[in-house]
Amino acid sequence: MSKAIGIDLGTTNSAAALKTVDTRIIANAEGEDLTPSVVSFQRKKRLIGHKKQFLVGRHAVNWMQQEPTNTIVSIKRLMGRGFHDPDVQRMLSEGRYNYKVTPLAGGSEHSVAVVLDGKEYTPEQISAKILDKIRADCVTELKDDVEYGVVTVPAYFNDKQKHATRAAAALAGIKVQRLLPEPTAAAISFGVEELDVGEGLTILVFDLGGGTFDLAVLTIADGQFIEQGKGGDMWMGGDDIDNLLLQHIYRETAAEHEIEDIPALIDALPDVEKSRFLGDIRAKVETAKIRLSTQTSAVVEILGVLKDKDGDILDIEVEISRERFESILQPFVDRAMELTRNVLDGINFEPELIDRVIMVGGSSSIPLVIRAVREFFGDDKVLLHERPMLAIAEGAAILAHRLADSYECPVCGKPVNQGDTTCSHCGFDLQANLIAKGVVDIVHTTSHDYYLVLEDGDDYRLVESNTPLPFHTQYEFKLLDSEQRLIHFQFYNMVNEKRESIGDLWLSFNMGDDEEIDDALPEVLLDFEIDSDNLITVSAQIKGKPDIQVSRTLSRGKADERLFIELRQSIDRANQEEHKYYTTYDFLHRAVQIAEMINRIIDPKTGEENKALGQKIEERNQVAHQLLEKEEAPWTNLYYAEDFLNQMGHFMSPEDRKNLEIEIDNLKKQNETGTVEQIMATREKLFAELDKHPVLQLFVTLHNAYEVCRERDPVRAPYFEKYIQDIDLALQREDTLAIQRLLTEVMPEVHKELDWKGNQKLRILHGVQR
Ligand code: ADP
Ligand code: MG
Repeated sequence: MSKAIGIDLGTTNSAAALKTVDTRIIANAEGEDLTPSVVSFQRKKRLIGHKKQFLVGRHAVNWMQQEPTNTIVSIKRLMGRGFHDPDVQRMLSEGRYNYKVTPLAGGSEHSVAVVLDGKEYTPEQISAKILDKIRADCVTELKDDVEYGVVTVPAYFNDKQKHATRAAAALAGIKVQRLLPEPTAAAISFGVEELDVGEGLTILVFDLGGGTFDLAVLTIADGQFIEQGKGGDMWMGGDDIDNLLLQHIYRETAAEHEIEDIPALIDALPDVEKSRFLGDIRAKVETAKIRLSTQTSAVVEILGVLKDKDGDILDIEVEISRERFESILQPFVDRAMELTRNVLDGINFEPELIDRVIMVGGSSSIPLVIRAVREFFGDDKVLLHERPMLAIAEGAAILAHRLADSYECPVCGKPVNQGDTTCSHCGFDLQANLIAKGVVDIVHTTSHDYYLVLEDGDDYRLVESNTPLPFHTQYEFKLLDSEQRLIHFQFYNMVNEKRESIGDLWLSFNMGDDEEIDDALPEVLLDFEIDSDNLITVSAQIKGKPDIQVSRTLSRGKADERLFIELRQSIDRANQEEHKYYTTYDFLHRAVQIAEMINRIIDPKTGEENKALGQKIEERNQVAHQLLEKEEAPWTNLYYAEDFLNQMGHFMSPEDRKNLEIEIDNLKKQNETGTVEQIMATREKLFAELDKHPVLQLFVTLHNAYEVCRERDPVRAPYFEKYIQDIDLALQREDTLAIQRLLTEVMPEVHKELDWKGNQKLRILHGVQR
């Protein structure tokens, strides 16, 4: 049977684990337990042509020294983000990373891409490379298929970031059983199964990794993991410690050689040597730091590379004692403890309320860090994982195992099925055991309030923070106008009193022309669902018209979002400009079709874009604009012709009818695919067909005036109705004179009536209200 593994997709390192009877880490192809989360692109000259390949993990780390600009590190920081995100901008401004980050070509400002070998990749695609290597290495190591997995994500990841993680897994061919918050995974790896039914435990997960520091407080009871609070610092971790050490080494070297500015000397190195030097010294500093967790001193040396101003070799050779290291590190540790206190303060918890502190993440191996945590909470509460960098993958593996179709009975080891309540081999009570193991039902809560933008003032709060997940409910909203054909739902979270967009949803619909629209404003039913992984699905329908329904995930910065923003802008512009009613109506019709196409451009599973459709959308957009500028309304013309055929067809010869049908079909096709020129040419042919029936056209115009009048001034409507009946009879009698007379009488009134609508301004609306 295919295996289900647990994957910790970390900022610095990733790891995979498998649980059978015991839980074990699965080593990668290089024989390491951890795969550096680094992706590089290598282009090597060959006798003929180039060899091009992606390198992932250790190979990529090694290649980084050759080509730092072609190596992606810390991609997790970019997952589900936009180029203008403060965090992304910070990442760029600090210049820690050498690769190029840009807004995704064709996406909106809510997206971001990295560049490898001159080509753009989304963060999902890069993460997929890491996941793909992990999966492939597991397949080799386990000599079995690996199809399913539990993938961990930080507790603070929002819907968009989780969605990106899921897409990355899909690209790597992994079916995600669950996205598991890292703190929960850490807790599971520490054996919450020791809990008895009815017993509760409050834990604090202290995860100090390479680039991030995550804190979470969880309460565990009866198999439920409830998040009480979280905190930490997204920009604090082992990398900072490396930097502190590096600065210390530069200072020591400068003092020893009586030079002022070591970084200036490094800067003066030729590019290739410089990046090699920097890569080298960083690696050595990290090794020294890790050594200092177990030894009392460590040495960093780089000999024969750096030169002083006179060109003489300047060796770097610094010994660091544990004491010295700790004094350098003290402010960092103080800050970590301050953040820990903040999390507790934020939820009004005294440290005594915490039953256990679980320390995970590579930097939790540092003795000074462990001492500080022990001092704060008390020795006996602090649990340290033997290898803290692997805890999260192990926790994920335990859950993956539990969620797999079948797993081994904990007593006899024979396979039992997911749904079995007792073991068919030894009769063990699996159900009770599962509950006792506390991993049956992991309940999480929403971390923020969710809002929907309303047109009329106050936005609507859909979900409060701390609502248990999964969550599903329906809401009713009203359209702004009975002629509204586009609905734009905009969702956002409030994060630190700032609006953070979670995505938009556009619903477009074309009600048939013959459908009666009652006076009451149509209502929209919004189905809003957040699943246990905190992923949002929304679908909406017009109340009472279940056939008009759109169900999809939200736009997330890709081409769909950009195109919707463009559509919105053109609608806003059309609304501001002066256009005739029918021209605007035509434009609305085109906007509805464009919205429908945009909704199909992104593959909901993998996030890949349909480029050909994108091209078509751009074209239709332009056509719509040009027609608006020319004040032309070929869709409206088409509707008119269809109407004409319906109402007047029985007065026409079969041949004329046939010809008109053909021209209507042609114009329909051109409207959907043709250029402005083609549309206009086809319309001329249609007009020529219609012009064969001048009297019938006047009669149709009379019908229209009657319809308008019924709406505007019902008392006067019978006046037109009478003429319609009389002319109808005259037409049947083929009494040309009577027809002439009646039309001459009524037409001036008809024009007055239609002017009313013709001069009216149509606004294209797309909001909702309470
Ligand atoms: P992430 O979750 O961000 O991917 P990890 O939990 O894998 O990070 O931690 C990686 C960090 O831990 C690196 O900065 C590494 O130098 C540091 N680290 C690993 N082992 C030790 C150790 N024994 N002592 C100190 N730091 C360590
Ligand atoms: Mg981690």
